[in-house]
Amino acid sequence: MDDSIQNKFDGIRQMISNTPLMEISFKYKSRPMKIYAKAEYYNLSGSIKDRVAYYILKKAYEKGDVKPGDTIVEATSGNTGIAFSAMAAYLGHPMIVYMPDWMSEERIKIMKSFGAEVRLVSHEEGGFLGAIAKSEKLSENDGVFLPGQFSNYDNVIAHVEDTGAEILKQLELFGCVPDCVVAGVGTGGTIMGLAEAFKAVNPKCEARPLEPKNSPTLSTGYKTGEHKIAGISDEFIPSICKLDRLDDVVSVDDIDSIIMAQRLSRELGIGVGISSGANFIGAAEALDRLGGSACCVTTFADDNKKYLSTDYAKEFEAKDEYISSHIELTGLKAIR
Ligand code: PMP
Repeated sequence: MDDSIQNKFDGIRQMISNTPLMEISFKYKSRPMKIYAKAEYYNLSGSIKDRVAYYILKKAYEKGDVKPGDTIVEATSGNTGIAFSAMAAYLGHPMIVYMPDWMSEERIKIMKSFGAEVRLVSHEEGGFLGAIAKSEKLSENDGVFLPGQFSNYDNVIAHVEDTGAEILKQLELFGCVPDCVVAGVGTGGTIMGLAEAFKAVNPKCEARPLEPKNSPTLSTGYKTGEHKIAGISDEFIPSICKLDRLDDVVSVDDIDSIIMAQRLSRELGIGVGISSGANFIGAAEALDRLGGSACCVTTFADDNKKYLSTDYAKEFEAKDEYISSHIELTGLKAIR
């Protein structure tokens, strides 16, 4: 990589990573517990995907897979597209995003605000898989770079070397080593990377991928049902997501996830997205099964600002069968 590009990567490095780790105290079914949650919306464009975009682009420059001026094309349900759009703007690349046409309006506007061209793909045109096929087709042209987040293992390595290593250091300050990690699966990059990082320190650490109960793609292997947890359980099991290296799937209700995300915002001032609500209740359930005092980690991938035009902003009845109905949030302590 030539010096001017290296300087650009160095210049923006401090805008990505080094996010706070929160120790959230709560009672679940009256029992006191703690969960460690990484506040990933503190990244450059507001999500965990900034780490992935930075890492994949830097590696691609080092390998000579991308050069200045190349067009970047990616299929995404939102955060990856936003993250690459921001990095593309910074590095001076044109950016084309293929995205299913049912994602929130805010996502499209944010990508456009970074100068990206957004091409929407309808259900009839193949939905998520159609978006991936179109991005692959375009990448056959010269001067086009396809990060390929669903099949590019650098996505996983970013979370081993960056997210995972960072969490381990922060947990040391809290005096613990991870016994369990729960993360919703979009590409599977987060859960695969954290599993690898944490199992290296504690081989018994459980790594549990999470999916929506009403759209259990991980459990069935194919698209089934609709759900409201944007960013996870797209329509298929990505090739980088190796379920045989992970522990049991955690299933959560999507309305329960929305209620939990709303309550984190209203009761603790943590304005997180829907998948963060899902991760929190999934982690509470996993922790409960481990006896309640284990060190359980999860991620809050993004904040609530992209969901204000969605069901996130609606009110739902708290049902007794929901996990969130049995959670009382009691406190928060964050460190960097
Ligand atoms: N939550 C949100 C809001 C996301 O956008 C994503 C990524 N699509 C995830 C969770 C899942 O992350 P990963 O792709 O690493 O599995």
